[in-house]
Order: sequence, then C-alpha cells, then structure tokens
Amino acid sequence: MPSTDFETVVVGGGAAGIAAARRLNQAKIRCLIVEARSRLGGRAWTVAGPVRSALDLGCGWLHSADRNPWVAIAEEQCRTIDKTPPPWRRRSLPRGFPEGDHREFLKAQEEFFARVSERAQKEPDVAAAALLAPECRWNNLINAVGTYISGAELEHVSARDFDNFDDTGVNWRVVEGYGATIATCGEHLPAALDCPVLRINHSGKRLKIETPKGIITADQAIVTLPSTVLAETDQLFAPVLPLKYEAARGLPLGLADKLFLSLEHAEEFEKDSRVFGATDRTATATYHFRPFGRSQIEVYFGGRLAAELEAAGEHAFFDFAASELTRLLGRAFVQRVKPIHIHRWGIDPFARGSYSYALPGMTDCRKKLAAPVDDRLFFAGEACSLADFSTAHGGWITGVAAAEQAITARIRA
Ligand SMILES: Cc1cc2nc3c(=O)[nH]c(=O)nc-3n(C[C@H](O)[C@H](O)[C@H](O)COP(=O)(O)OP(=O)(O)OC[C@H]3O[C@@H](n4cnc5c(N)ncnc54)[C@H](O)[C@@H]3O)c2cc1C
Repeated sequence: MPSTDFETVVVGGGAAGIAAARRLNQAKIRCLIVEARSRLGGRAWTVAGPVRSALDLGCGWLHSADRNPWVAIAEEQCRTIDKTPPPWRRRSLPRGFPEGDHREFLKAQEEFFARVSERAQKEPDVAAAALLAPECRWNNLINAVGTYISGAELEHVSARDFDNFDDTGVNWRVVEGYGATIATCGEHLPAALDCPVLRINHSGKRLKIETPKGIITADQAIVTLPSTVLAETDQLFAPVLPLKYEAARGLPLGLADKLFLSLEHAEEFEKDSRVFGATDRTATATYHFRPFGRSQIEVYFGGRLAAELEAAGEHAFFDFAASELTRLLGRAFVQRVKPIHIHRWGIDPFARGSYSYALPGMTDCRKKLAAPVDDRLFFAGEACSLADFSTAHGGWITGVAAAEQAITARIRA
C-alpha cells in the first residue's frame, strides 16, 4: 500500500463499494477501496466457461433493467445486452409438469402475491408463509420459488419486506457477464486487494482502519460489507455500534447457489426454457436450459436445500441435480451432462450468503443499517436498500447515496 492516509476509505469492493468510490473519485476526493478478496466485484463474479462463455456465479440478471444503472455502464463498456424474456416469465417445459397443472400453479402463485400485497403494510408484520392458502396443492412449489427469490423459506421472510421489493418486470442479461461489467467498472479506482478490514477504530479524531497489512487512516469511511459479515464480525467497530449489529442481524443473507452443467445435443431443448426438478416439494432446484442458447444448463438451488448441499460438498449439488434430472428425463439423459462450475456462497467467508431478506417485523432494519454515524461513518450495500435490496443495482444505488452523504459531510465540516 503506497499511501496509508486518505480522505475517505470504502470498505468492500462489490457493486456498492465500486459505485461509492467512482462517485468520490468524480468529486476529486482521495479515496481507497479496501477489499478482502484478490478481485473486485464481491457477489458479482464472472468466470470463464467452455467455448468462451462467461458464467455469472453471482448476479446474472439486470433486474428492473429499464431503470437499472448497470445497463448504461454495460453499454459504455460496449457489452452485449440480451433482452430475451427470462425463463420464469415463460411456460415451463411440460416434463413432469402438464400444461393444466402449470396454469393452476401460476394462478395460485399470483393469488399468493396478491394476498401478500394486500396484507403487507398492515400491523403486525407477519412471515410471508402465513399468507399461503391453507391446503393449497401448490404451496411447496410457491415456497421453492420463495427460496430462489429470497434465499430462504417463506416462514423466515417478512411479508412486508417481500412486498417492498420494487421490480419493474424487465429482466435482461449481459452476454459477457454481469460480474465482469461490475469488476471492469472498478478497474481504474484506487484499491487495496487481499486486505480484509479487521477493525474500524472511530474513537479518535481520525478513523483508523486496521488490516493485516497495517493501519489506514481516514476522515471518513463508507462501509459496504454484506449484512451477515457485519453481524458476525466480532468488534468490527471500536467502540462497538450495537445498533448496526442489531440492524444487520435483522437482515440475514439468504442462500442461493448456481451450478453450471454442460449439455451434449442441447438443441433438443428450446433456448432459455426451464423446468422444476419437482413440483410437489420445496427442496427442489430449477433448471434453466440453454441460457443464451449455450449447450449448458444453469441449475439454481435456494434456501435450506442449498445450505444442506453446501455442507455435503460441491459434488452434492451435481448428485442432487443428476437425481432430479434422471427422474424427469431418464438415466441416459444424465450421461449427457457434466459439471462445469459451482460456488458455495454460504461458506464464502467474505459473503456468508447470497442476498438479504428481512426477518418478520424487521423491515426497519434496512433504514437503520443505512443511517450514518457521527457524519463520518456511512453505510451502503444491497441490504441498505428499501426497495432494491438483494440486487446489484440496489448495491449501486446505495453506494452512490452513501458517497453523496460523505461529500455533503465534507462540505459541512
Ligand atoms: C447466486 C447469486 C445470484 C444472484 N443473482 C442476482 C441477479 O440475478 N441480479 C441481481 O441484481 N443480483 C443478484 N444477486 C445479488 C447480487 O450479487 C448482490 O446483491 C450484489 O452483488 C451485492 O453487492 P454489494 O456491494 O452490496 O455486496 P458485495 O458484492 O458482497 O460486496 C461487499 C464486498 O465486501 C468484501 N468484504 C467482505 N468482508 C470484508 C472485510 N472484512 N474487509 C474488506 N472487504 C470485505 C467482499 O469481498 C465484497 O467484495 C445474486 C447473488 C448470488 C450469490
């Protein structure tokens, strides 16, 4: 680290940290991103797959793409935006899910979302699962979809928070990778990599950011750590900030993991089609066939199922997928698939989960987590967003907002 003194330190170099540092840089504030990993991007991460395909192990969808700031950045970088409607907006493949059943499921799911909207802002807040229709045949599958959306079963998720999520329904992708777009955006920003922050000492006139590589001093810090990391890192702040710790505990990261499989003779399947592994249970994966037309399957696991598979090891994801695919498509089909990539976000020490949800009664935690302390500690990251939480654009929006607060505080000081 050539210099150890900055005006503003940005703790964490994911979507939020990159957005914050970019804004500070524009305002000519001397800032440094301090990032634990050897790369920028955090939960946005593109890796190389077969035939030069870019695989997004973290965020893949530009949700609310018609108002998502990353779209303009991807365009600035001359990336290719794919506007094919997402598989969840299309009819599932009929394997194991006849058309009549699929229609009935969609109707039950719509009715569930409507009940959540109708009840969400009333007191007291309840778990979203309380709004499932008693005895409905599709409850397990609705709950499975809940694990893909929130990373947790609906019994853990606040109905109000679930309803607060603002989605315009426009979902696009970046062919070269969403993660690659986000990392490239941070490329020219000053950053210290492989540099986990151990403590933020705010007892003196200047902040002391303690890392294994030494102490960095600064006037201000923007903290963008995942909520689970904030909740689980003992004594991150000195003196301790119990309100931040409590807010972070109300917003755990749910778990979602993606397994990429290669598929021989993929043309048999329609591009960007999907099938559920099972339609009668919550512990099931969803299979996206031929994403971008590639000879691949992107398998999505959520909630408790993902946690159990993580605990059993990487091979457990493939074994589970192979058993569901065998049941749906026969034993010979499974000979055509091979694992390419998986990342276990739950055991990743710098993420400890995939995206945040609020526990019932805890929606206010988002505002509490985002609130500045002493006009010199600022907070950003997807969990700080009231309506765009759990997304990379939520990360961007909160990062820019925290940078604006820091800039205003400098003018006031
Ligand atoms: C499987 C999966 C699928 C997803 N799909 C989508 C999607 O389709 N669309 C979408 O919009 N979002 C999606 N998301 C969520 C999205 O990736 C995140 O919401 C977003 O990237 C979070 O950005 P952030 O900056 O808030 O946090 P992070 O990206 O987690 O950034 C925080 C940074 O802090 C660093 N850090 C941690 N501890 C320390 C420490 N002690 N010191 C210094 N640095 C530290 C981390 O390494 C990280 O770089 C998905 C996530 C996953 C895992």
